[in-house]
Amino acid sequence: MVIETRGKFTFRGGSHPPGRKNLTRDSQIQTIGACKQVAVMLSQHIGAVCEPIVKKNDQVKAGQKIGDCDAFVSSPVHSPVSGKVKEISLQSHAVLGRSPAVIIDADSENNPPKQPLFSRFTEDFSDESFSAEQICGAVRQAGIVGMGGAGFPTRVKIEPNPRLPKETLIINACECEPYITCDYRIMLEWTPQIIAGIKLARKASGCSKVFVGIEDNKPSAIKVMNAALETYANGDDIEVVPVKTKYPQGGERQLIETVLNKNVPTGGIPPMIGVVVLNVATAAAIAEAVVFEKPLTHRVVTVTGEGINKTGNYYVPIGTSVNELIEFCGEMTDDAVKVILGGPMMGIAIADLTTPIQKTTGAITVLTRKEIGRAKFAGRQTACIRCGRCIEVCPEHLNPTRIAHAVKNDLLDLAQKYYMTACMECGCCSYVCPANIEIAGYIKTGKVLLARAKKKIPD
Ligand code: SF4
Ligand code: SF4
Repeated sequence: MVIETRGKFTFRGGSHPPGRKNLTRDSQIQTIGACKQVAVMLSQHIGAVCEPIVKKNDQVKAGQKIGDCDAFVSSPVHSPVSGKVKEISLQSHAVLGRSPAVIIDADSENNPPKQPLFSRFTEDFSDESFSAEQICGAVRQAGIVGMGGAGFPTRVKIEPNPRLPKETLIINACECEPYITCDYRIMLEWTPQIIAGIKLARKASGCSKVFVGIEDNKPSAIKVMNAALETYANGDDIEVVPVKTKYPQGGERQLIETVLNKNVPTGGIPPMIGVVVLNVATAAAIAEAVVFEKPLTHRVVTVTGEGINKTGNYYVPIGTSVNELIEFCGEMTDDAVKVILGGPMMGIAIADLTTPIQKTTGAITVLTRKEIGRAKFAGRQTACIRCGRCIEVCPEHLNPTRIAHAVKNDLLDLAQKYYMTACMECGCCSYVCPANIEIAGYIKTGKVLLARAKKKIPD
């Protein structure tokens, strides 16, 4: 049963950037040909960095674990290809600058492109033969992390915790970031696999109620998911909730506010109010890990923007370089000026195209000067005119201009007093600023500097 859009509960703030999803919305997921080399980052998640468990010249098989860590908040990494370890070295990383990775030369003969397993699931899948413990164990072994971008280890999220019992599971299928359509496509093409993943995640977490939040600009996904759930999960307390199209509707806290009319305390986490939120692609990965014991070695990536010749949605080995993926997509156009890992609002512009695809990479967006806008491209920034628009749109109820000003003046303590770390980096403030001030950029820099000062990330 479709329930009404719960627009009355929508979160405060947000903005309406042009969606531009038409560039890839109708592109079926394609498997890319075998890649020549992968660089598998040892840190693709929030938490402790993995230690390599292979060394130079070792022969590895597709799916083999190549890095792990004993820490509770961490997640192992696996090779997506069969081949030989060339080296373990620092690779370009969009946030950290450089980060350790296992570089593997793929065997030219032994690597047929991996096909997704969605056709092996049926909508009437039952979770009966799996215990909660088994599900959590398989999710940990498979190295599953939040694939919507946050990269939080999924086992930690779903595992029962007596101090913070979970009641409600929300599947985040909003995909509010402009241009990106990978989640939309998997909802249309991998529906039974997603439903299997939802059932398994619900069982592991012990949640009694499940909501699937989908923005109302994706009527086909709402229809497909709803039809499948009505037939196969009727009475199972899994409900599709169409939500208003507004950026950043897919933010964890914003989605909870919209669907449940509840707020996660500032600096807190959803389990504090009995909620666990999982991205829809993560649900699909859980199904593959539990039912077929397959580690997370591939993901769907949207390659989009007017600066790329062959836009589309591609099933890509994790560790493939942006360069190789762009090559597969017919190269960039002559007027392409910016490559972003992710979408235009939350993504990070990269200069080094050897940067590898990670578990959290949902898109590569290649923009032209025209798409960026003349003033923004020229970086024409004027003085703040104190219009207050950045404050109005901030979904975290912050004062972005104050935080940015503090960071600019090297006053990290002051920025912290203004709750800098509560910023979700949605970019709404920069998007609406008439003075073209890169407010979110300053705040991101401030957060990295603070983490370095606290030695949470290397210099
Ligand atoms: S301060 Fe952070 S959370 Fe608020 S609008 Fe800017 S980027 Fe988004
Ligand atoms: S939106 Fe820009 S100009 Fe307006 S108050 Fe914020 S920083 Fe200043």
